[in-house]
Amino acid sequence: MLQVYNTLGKRIQSFKPNEPNTVKMYVCGPTVYDEVHIGHGRTFVAFDAMSRYLRVKGYNVIRVQNITDIDDKIINRARDLGKSWNEVSEYYSKTYLEHIGALKVKIDMHPKVTTHINEIIDFVQKLVDSGHAYVANGSVYFDVDTYPGYGELSNVRKEEWDQGEEIVKEKRHPYDFALWKAYKPGEPYWESPWGKGRPGWHIECSTMSTRYLGNKIDIHGGGMDLVFPHHENERAQTESLTGSTWVKYWMHVAFLTIKKEKMSKSKGNIVPLKEALSKYGPSTLRYWFLSSQYRNPIEYSEEILEQSSRSLQRLKDAISILRKIVQKGPIHYVKEEDVKVQEQVIGTISRFDEHMENDFDTSNALTAIHELASIVFSKLQYSEDVFGALIALDGFRKFNEVFAVMDEEFSAELDRLAKVIDAVIEVRNYLRKKQMYDLSDQIRDILSRSGIKILDSKEGSTWRFQ
Ligand code: AMP
Ligand code: ZN
Repeated sequence: MLQVYNTLGKRIQSFKPNEPNTVKMYVCGPTVYDEVHIGHGRTFVAFDAMSRYLRVKGYNVIRVQNITDIDDKIINRARDLGKSWNEVSEYYSKTYLEHIGALKVKIDMHPKVTTHINEIIDFVQKLVDSGHAYVANGSVYFDVDTYPGYGELSNVRKEEWDQGEEIVKEKRHPYDFALWKAYKPGEPYWESPWGKGRPGWHIECSTMSTRYLGNKIDIHGGGMDLVFPHHENERAQTESLTGSTWVKYWMHVAFLTIKKEKMSKSKGNIVPLKEALSKYGPSTLRYWFLSSQYRNPIEYSEEILEQSSRSLQRLKDAISILRKIVQKGPIHYVKEEDVKVQEQVIGTISRFDEHMENDFDTSNALTAIHELASIVFSKLQYSEDVFGALIALDGFRKFNEVFAVMDEEFSAELDRLAKVIDAVIEVRNYLRKKQMYDLSDQIRDILSRSGIKILDSKEGSTWRFQ
């Protein structure tokens, strides 16, 4: 059973979504005032691999990721460039969507703050009405003392609750945070019951998450920098409004670093995603991002990317060998030594699954797939075992469904595998009709040792991979 690490409570838990077949996921997206960089890419790809794995497991995953298109940084950038704030945010939203698309990150909805102002105002008004927020000088602040669970997510102590906001006397407590900011000359504004103004930073995610995914979601995540204050604040305001638990699993991705420092625009040490995409391509980048488990930091270097490219090529080489075996055929009687190799192949594929089940450990899952490649180079290559080659190809297909690092088409060979197994099962059905159970059981056992389970019923027999 899938185990995931929950930042809330800092422990591993069995994964069981609120609804049996659906996983609702909300990931905090970028503030669009500059080019997205590979640090963003790392976080967004980590959640992409999780979504893909959950889809393989049969869940319907709905992923929402917001775009922060109004914020102090956007306003300041626009001033620097002599452009309007919306010109800046529109341009960078567009490039963000382009690059994240090139990186094959699948996101179902990309809501923007500025097209949800009315919903945000409603949300804030409800917090004011219920006594969780107060109006002061045209701004609205969340009264942190009204939410008893504050600090539980981040374990940050009360003395250290620093919202990183401008210090203003009008707040009841220094650790209260802005839900709505009163208008300042020269800044964009919207009309509200409290006068002209614009939303604070945290309120957008609570509003858009409940708007599109309802009052309860399964996974909420982002980079580790978001735990405090952003997610602590989102949790306080959402649960104050709904009166119930909002997020089942809080998940946070470790940083992509450069010279051991977090890559970020403000440090001036970014590698734009655009640049990395054109230099290395999406597959090598994804491969590198996923070669570490998402809770471990990754350090950027050109060498590591070149090495990732070579490692990925090793997997492609193994696949080419498998294709050749399959094309050459024919399928011969499964020999005892072939069965042993097939068992090893199946072993690596199930280890891939086991590692993914262990908090999406893509790092060890990848090691298992390289072990599969080693079996191809050292054994399958010399065996001409078409059946074994097809099972191994299916392993690579499974891997690629999660990692999405190859454009390879796996279906032709796998269709062939399906046809072969169907034919074997037809022969077995015939034997069963003739009451030749010794032989039919032997076929079932041989298939079972090759990882294929036969399911007998009155209507006939079907099969699936174990
Ligand atoms: P921002 O544009 O800074 O609001 O970040 C958008 C998302 O990318 C958030 O989930 C951040 O935590 C994440 N992020 C930003 N920089 C990095 C980094 N260097 N490594 C990993 N994730 C990052
Ligand atoms: Zn957020």
